[in-house]
Amino acid sequence: TIYLDHNATTAPAPEVLSAMWPVYERLWANASSQHAPGQDARRALAAARATVARVLRCKPAEVIFTSGATEANHLAVRGLLAAAPAGRTRVLFSAVEHAGHLRLARALAEAGVPVELLPVLPDGRLDLQAAAERIGPDVALVSLMAANNETGLLMPVAEVAALAGAAGARLHVDATQYVGKLPFGFDACGADAVSFSAHKFHGPKGVGALLLRQGVPFSPQTLGSQERGRRGGTENLPGIVGLAAALERLGDDAAMQAEAARQAELRDTLETGLMAALPGAVHVWGRGLPRLPGTSYLRVGCLSAEVLLQRLERLGIAASAGAACSSGGSEPSHVLRAMGVPADEALAAVRLSLGQGSQAPDIHALLAGLPRLLRPLLQEAQAAAA
Ligand code: PMP
Repeated sequence: TIYLDHNATTAPAPEVLSAMWPVYERLWANASSQHAPGQDARRALAAARATVARVLRCKPAEVIFTSGATEANHLAVRGLLAAAPAGRTRVLFSAVEHAGHLRLARALAEAGVPVELLPVLPDGRLDLQAAAERIGPDVALVSLMAANNETGLLMPVAEVAALAGAAGARLHVDATQYVGKLPFGFDACGADAVSFSAHKFHGPKGVGALLLRQGVPFSPQTLGSQERGRRGGTENLPGIVGLAAALERLGDDAAMQAEAARQAELRDTLETGLMAALPGAVHVWGRGLPRLPGTSYLRVGCLSAEVLLQRLERLGIAASAGAACSSGGSEPSHVLRAMGVPADEALAAVRLSLGQGSQAPDIHALLAGLPRLLRPLLQEAQAAAA
């Protein structure tokens, strides 16, 4: 299979698996136990935490390991909101947050929290002017993703951090699609809390972290002694060691930039190739705007995503219609709806997400096969419309 669904998940890297196996075999003791095996586990946990802190430029004490980004997102929002000073009650989410995160927004609203969605512009970028108008002195918290999982568009974290800072509001950033794809430093990002998940960058599934700025008032949601009392429960040490190994293997900023440039070039070859082969039919959302290097979110005419994915499958290519978590349904993407994209166009959206494993022959195979399969369908659709 040619795998073009890296935004959904990635394969665990060999270095990650070989770092994890010895933990299962030999470091299975509870890191809270006082005996020697427990202390060995505790040392491994501390080493993994130190690696995360070094790669993501934060303090070890700022790392809270979780079961992934969904939990980290919930923990950040609920934890910061519960500790917000009196009078700060409003919570703002961008309208294009991950579907799971918007469920939390709905749940909070149903529980009586004044929740508002920050709009995006028709091109998918956050409407900064609207954000500026809404981030006031009664806002407890703003939750904004660093990069959108569907369009790949980068969100203006620094600008929103400045707005939130000026208003005295907290900022949570869901960096799940960003960490591992572009260099990231917690020290300079301006957010109070940042979530990410290891399986998006060749780490194991079911493990992630919340980076929480030291000194920020926070109310734990799972009570227990672990993670300095901020997230109770016996640590998933194999997963945590795997997460650290996955971060470590990304290399330094220069190596990450080089890999990002390589993917962006492949992605651009894919997009320009498709546009040239099917003139006038291909629309790419976010093209020309700052976005993740490997993400291409597009439609071919109004051919349904289902049809497109079926033809891709015939070519041995695995991709998806928008987010994995919401695919399978026939609902148009909430991200495209927030951009004001009509339903028929939104239902045609397919996300091709390249990754570290993507190579030029993958893209050439797609370009050699897909236009040939789609041309007759486009002609049919045109004839039907005439
Ligand atoms: N946020 C974003 C932006 C995501 O893309 C994802 C993964 N689809 C998540 C959160 C949730 O991550 P996890 O499933 O690892 O909890």
